[in-house]
Amino acid sequence: MIDGFGRHITYVRMSVTDRCDLRCRYCMAEHMTFLPRQDVLTLEEMVELADVFIDRGVKRIRLTGGEPLVRKGIEHLVGELGRRVGRGLDELTMTTNGTQLARHARMLFEAGIRRINVSLDSRDPERFRHITRRGELAQVLQGIEAAVEAGLRIKINMVALRGLNDGEIAPMLRWCGERGFDLTLIETMPLGEVEADRTEHYLPLNAVREQLGREFRLIPSLARTGGPARYYEVDGLGLRVGFITPLTHNFCEGCNRIRVAATGTVFGCLGHDQKVELRDLLRSAGSAAVGAALDRLLAGKPERHQFRIEAPRPAVARHMSVTGG
Ligand code: SAM
Repeated sequence: MIDGFGRHITYVRMSVTDRCDLRCRYCMAEHMTFLPRQDVLTLEEMVELADVFIDRGVKRIRLTGGEPLVRKGIEHLVGELGRRVGRGLDELTMTTNGTQLARHARMLFEAGIRRINVSLDSRDPERFRHITRRGELAQVLQGIEAAVEAGLRIKINMVALRGLNDGEIAPMLRWCGERGFDLTLIETMPLGEVEADRTEHYLPLNAVREQLGREFRLIPSLARTGGPARYYEVDGLGLRVGFITPLTHNFCEGCNRIRVAATGTVFGCLGHDQKVELRDLLRSAGSAAVGAALDRLLAGKPERHQFRIEAPRPAVARHMSVTGG
């Protein structure tokens, strides 16, 4: 799949549910209305759609959400897609908040997943509960232990939040170094209404990088994982730290991805409403119609997002949990 700017689309992020057991302040509203079940693709439909993508050259699929591990029957989806690894698909991965990892980590490994991203914005139990509005840190840490035991490689995703977790970034880096995890820091993106002023907690990562640079020797790394992060090796700690800076640096020229919402809506860009609806086509129109819709999506995939944190309204009305972060 090649878009109108010549970019090869080889990576699909699939949101398997819009539901989540946490309500992170920058991500969701406190009282979210979730989708009715019939609007969400069945697991079989998700496999069917994944096969369409694999047939068209997609090499990596990341399952995300909402929280992918709260989707009932997730083990069937992971098992099915895992069977495609090495047979068309190079890699299956997942982004999770970790709350359900203790019971699912082994299943993920056995299905063929080798690395996961775990979102963890704080290692202080009270701050963690405040940011997530309900999470139990201990549960996530147990989940991470289970993932390590199962043999999964872990990258921690941490959204940098001024006044909330900025004091924890250096300690998180050290902890990740000790545990053999990589770390990716993310700027808050203006997606969906969240009842709060995002600018209050917006922390530009160029300032964070400067500050970390005073404490650690950061060596720019050429490593790219096909994603938007820019990486640095942290001298002496044996880990890589990535910075995802949608606001301070636009990274769209190398974009290789599209995103599927749990409803079968496929978005060309996280920061635009450009989309095609595949659910009804999958249910009644057949593969040629699905293929034609994907062609339309590719032809119209936007060149870049235009996030502005100070804008009066979010760049798009949908939350990250809908598109799959
Ligand atoms: N529930 C899973 C998790 O927590 O990793 C997967 C979905 S979550 C939407 C994926 C990632 O998006 C998380 O790391 C989360 O912190 C991040 N995220 C959500 N809303 C965001 C926003 N407005 N700006 C930046 N990152 C956001």
